[in-house]
Amino acid sequence: MGSAAFEEIKRAGRLPSPKAVALELMRLLDEKSTPISQITSTVETDPVLSSRLLKLVNSPLAGVSRTIASLAMAVNLIGRPAVRNLVLGMSLIDPGKKALAGRFDYQEFWSKSLARAVSARHLTRFFKACAPDEAFTTALVSRIGALGFAATHPDDYDQIQSRVNGGPIAKHLLVEREVFGIDQNELSAEMMAEWYLADVFCDAVRHQNVVDLAKVEIDDRSRILISQLNLANSFADIFVKPVVYQEDLAAVVESFESMNLDRELLNDTFDLAKQEWHELGSVFAVKTNKNVPSLADTHSRASRDQRPILVVDDDPTSLKLLVNALTEAGYEVRSAVNGFDAFKAIRAEGYQMVITDWNMPKMDGLQLCGALRNSEVVGFVYVIVLTSSTGNEVLSKAFDAGADDFLIKPWKKIELLARLKAGFRTLNLESNLAAEQRAAHKTNAELASLNDKLKRMATTDELTGLYNRREAMSRLNEYWARAKRRNTPLSCIAFDIDNFKKCNDTYGHDVGDIVLRDTARILKRSVRASESVFRMGGEEFMILCPDSTAAMAEKGAERIRAQVEANRIKHLGATYAVTISGGVAEVVGSMNNCDEVLKVADRALYEAKAAGRNRVMIGQFAPIPVA
Ligand code: GH3
Ligand code: MG
Ligand code: MG
Repeated sequence: MGSAAFEEIKRAGRLPSPKAVALELMRLLDEKSTPISQITSTVETDPVLSSRLLKLVNSPLAGVSRTIASLAMAVNLIGRPAVRNLVLGMSLIDPGKKALAGRFDYQEFWSKSLARAVSARHLTRFFKACAPDEAFTTALVSRIGALGFAATHPDDYDQIQSRVNGGPIAKHLLVEREVFGIDQNELSAEMMAEWYLADVFCDAVRHQNVVDLAKVEIDDRSRILISQLNLANSFADIFVKPVVYQEDLAAVVESFESMNLDRELLNDTFDLAKQEWHELGSVFAVKTNKNVPSLADTHSRASRDQRPILVVDDDPTSLKLLVNALTEAGYEVRSAVNGFDAFKAIRAEGYQMVITDWNMPKMDGLQLCGALRNSEVVGFVYVIVLTSSTGNEVLSKAFDAGADDFLIKPWKKIELLARLKAGFRTLNLESNLAAEQRAAHKTNAELASLNDKLKRMATTDELTGLYNRREAMSRLNEYWARAKRRNTPLSCIAFDIDNFKKCNDTYGHDVGDIVLRDTARILKRSVRASESVFRMGGEEFMILCPDSTAAMAEKGAERIRAQVEANRIKHLGATYAVTISGGVAEVVGSMNNCDEVLKVADRALYEAKAAGRNRVMIGQFAPIPVA
């Protein structure tokens, strides 16, 4: 992975990061035992932070109807995780920052990041894989790696930008890896990990642009978060675009159709996100585009046959003649006075129908055709060139340069309109073709999702939906290697249902199955996001706890044991209760392979059974002495 490269980027300095106060605050908020008074007094050391925080907790983002007058109240009303996420977002967003060098646009970056964040927050109603504020923070920082590159290596990053020239994100990532040894997604994920964001979120950001996710080893929750991030990103794309066309929407429409989301609810979500984007934009001093149409409107507006026409001519009289004729015919018309300005306008505003004069200063009509055909950013544009000659040589020169049609000066209105009609017909054919290509792409995506499904079947247990033993061993191997590499602790917990045979014998196998399924549900619900639960066989379960010592894992195990004990299982009018016993083991340096940690956990489990069941014990590793 890019860890060494990350260290190098870090050493280059000026990597965006929350201020010291904010970092300290995030750490304190993470600890459930920190008294509120300590949190409040930390915030008070930074008056700007405290006033902004109060402003934010009273904004629609916090979703609290009563006025919040103090930070202690905020923590009580919206909860520590939400306050913590607000602190992170607030301390990072700095649109006023001028790049020390380079062309990176901080305003644009934060405007789009904020658009993505509010969209993700509202999209949680569909995905339900995390809390709304977690979605907000993750989406807000999901492209922070780009900012990281721009801040630490402005010149290199400029060069990458012009090399990739607005091309697809995959190309960006590739070139970044080539230049920095790490791409922006990896860098974002590493930065998020440094800010104590949980692994599921870091993993989602790390893999957000992977086409074939079936091949990637990640948590199911991260997979869902990726879909959510992608959809939020499509929303943000539309929010910041100067003009929105059918094609822009196709991507969004297709992605939510393939996810089977309710169309009307999605339109609402889009509008809510848009509104919140404006509101938060003013809190963070980030510019927002006030003319974003609603998703429902854009759809109908964009599908209109007549898109705006760009007319290019350096002669004011001819220009006016053309503009008037077209406006009278009901077209929406914009103008430019030379090829260069036209090219800029097309790039920025996405015109698809262009009528251009041939001879002009700066950049003539044929050069404009050439520039358009060579641009990777500009999609299909239909160009009609005005000429005063119909000689074969002249026309073939125009077609060679990439013109689609020509019009002889002085033109007749009826001919002008006929040519335009033909042009629009071609444009529509072109977008149908593009839609077909996208459909083919979608089939690929469906195949990938089928792969995904097959893989899930191979790695999960049918009865409980937990990962199976095979997956447990493969994860254990992976975590083992990672813990060694990073020199971090790793523990596992072995659980076994007490007297389960008796349960089967007394109430029948069906009840036994229900007890198994319900206990699995409790286990899954009770572990932390970074931990995974496995059914090892029969009524035996295992939990892998990365970054945990035996003492930390035991605390978790004890909590889970108590929850299972308190759980009441209801079936056909009867109520059942079970208990579990657990054994905890931590990986230690003297272990030779990862089976050994499982053995230690099993031994501790056996001791817990022998000591009377319904309890958790920690196992100690005693290597067999070599003679
Ligand atoms: P202890 O407290 O010592 O663990 O006692 P126990 O009865 O739970 O342990 P034992 O290993 O003797 O019995 C496990 C039982 O679990 C035996 C087996 O029939 C039952 N079992 C295993 N897999 C399933 C399953 O998928 N469904 C059901 N209903 N029972 C299962
Ligand atoms: Mg048992
Ligand atoms: Mg057993």
